[in-house]
Amino acid sequence: MQILVLNCGSSSVKFALLDAATEEEQVRGVAENLDASHPPRLRWRDGGGQHSRALEAADHQTALNEICALLRSDREQWHAINAVGHRVVHGGEAFTRSALIDVSVVERIAALSPLAPLHNPLNLLGIHTLREALPALPHVAVFDTAFHQTLPPRAFHYALPQKLYRELGVRRYGFHGSSHAYVAHEAIRRLDLDLAESAVITAHLGNGCSATAVDGGRSVDTSMGLSPLEGLVMGTRSGDVDPGLHELLARRLGLDISGTTDLLNRESGLLGVSGLSNDMRTLWQRAESGDEDAGLAVELFCYRLAKYVSALVVPLGRLDALVFTGGIGENAAGIRERVLALLGHLGMRVDAERNAKHGEGSKGVISDAGPPVALVIASDEELLIARETAAELAQSPAP
Ligand code: ADP
Repeated sequence: MQILVLNCGSSSVKFALLDAATEEEQVRGVAENLDASHPPRLRWRDGGGQHSRALEAADHQTALNEICALLRSDREQWHAINAVGHRVVHGGEAFTRSALIDVSVVERIAALSPLAPLHNPLNLLGIHTLREALPALPHVAVFDTAFHQTLPPRAFHYALPQKLYRELGVRRYGFHGSSHAYVAHEAIRRLDLDLAESAVITAHLGNGCSATAVDGGRSVDTSMGLSPLEGLVMGTRSGDVDPGLHELLARRLGLDISGTTDLLNRESGLLGVSGLSNDMRTLWQRAESGDEDAGLAVELFCYRLAKYVSALVVPLGRLDALVFTGGIGENAAGIRERVLALLGHLGMRVDAERNAKHGEGSKGVISDAGPPVALVIASDEELLIARETAAELAQSPAP
C-alpha cells in the first residue's frame, strides 16, 4: 500500500511517499522557510537523488500546490497512491486514536483550532488541499495528542477553576504522541521487557521537545500541556515560564497577548538564550569555543530535561529505560552525556564508547549497566504516520 504522508507544520510542510508494507520510500521532501525567515524552498529526494528549487511565495498554500504538482509530475507514481495520512497536532479529548477523515472529523478538528491556533488550521489546509487533489482516496488523521489520552486526571488537570476545563477544555493534552509511542514500544521490544510491567521515559528532542512517562505501554504523564509550549527548553520555544510574565511584559514593554505568544514561541528557547541560533549543532560548537551565551543555552536545555526526567519517575515509581529520540536525541552524544551525568541518582551511567556510536550490536543502549538503561532509538514521524494510516485503514476500511 502506497501512502502519502503530509506533515504541515508552522514553518514547513514535510511530505513522504512510502510503501506501508516494505517501508520503502519513493519520495521524501520538505517545503521550508514558510515563515519567511529565509528564502522559501522545496527540497526533496527520490530515486534520482537530491533536488531543490525556490518557492514563489512563503505561504502554505503555495507549498502544498507545489508539492502536489511535483508528485503529479510522475503520473504512474501519483496514480499508485492508495491513501493519505495527515499529521494533526490537536485532537483534544475527541480523538483517542487515528481517524478516517470525513466531514464530521474535519468539523471536529476545526472546532479544536482555538486550542492549537498555530497548528490545526494549517493541518486543515493540508487536508482540504489533498482531499481536493485526491478525492477518491481514504485520508486518515493521525493526532499528536491521541497517545496521551490515557493520562489520569491528576496529570492532565491544571490547578485552575474546574469550569475552565469543563467549558473551554483547558487541560494538559501532550504532543509528539506517535513518536513517544513508537520509541517506548521499540525500547520494550529491544530490552525484552514485560509490557504490562514496563516503565519507560521517552525524550523526543527535535525543534520541539517533550518527555513522557510510559507505564505498561500507556502514557501517564508528559511535559507538554494545553499547547506544545509547556515543559522543556526547545529550539525557539521557552518551555515553562511563570505565567506572571504576561503582565510584566504588558506593563513594561506594552506587549499584547499575541506579542507575548510570539516571543515565547518564536524568539525564546535555545535561540533566545544564545542570541545566536536554534540549531543545537551550532550552539554546541560555539559553546565548545567559549561562547558563554551558547554555553548557557546548552546547559539550560540539559538541566531542564534532567529535571523533567527525574520528575517523570514519580508517576512510574520505578524505571526500566530512558529513551532519547529526535534530531538532538539521536545525534547529540554530548547532550546525552550531560543529561545522564545529572541523573546519577537514578542509577544510570553513560558508557562513553556506546554513546559515541550507539546502535551497532548494542540495541541502542548507551549506558553501562542497569536497569535502568539509557538508549537511543531513531524515530521517523512520517514513517510512523504511514504505519498508523495503514493500521487505521485495516481496522476501519474506507467505504
Ligand atoms: P524537527 O522537530 O523539525 O523534526 P529534528 O528532529 O530534525 O527537528 O531536530 C532538529 C534538531 O536536531 C536541531 O536542533 C539540530 O541542530 C539537531 N541536530 C541534528 N543533527 C545533530 C547533530 N549531529 N548534533 C547535534 N544536534 C543535531
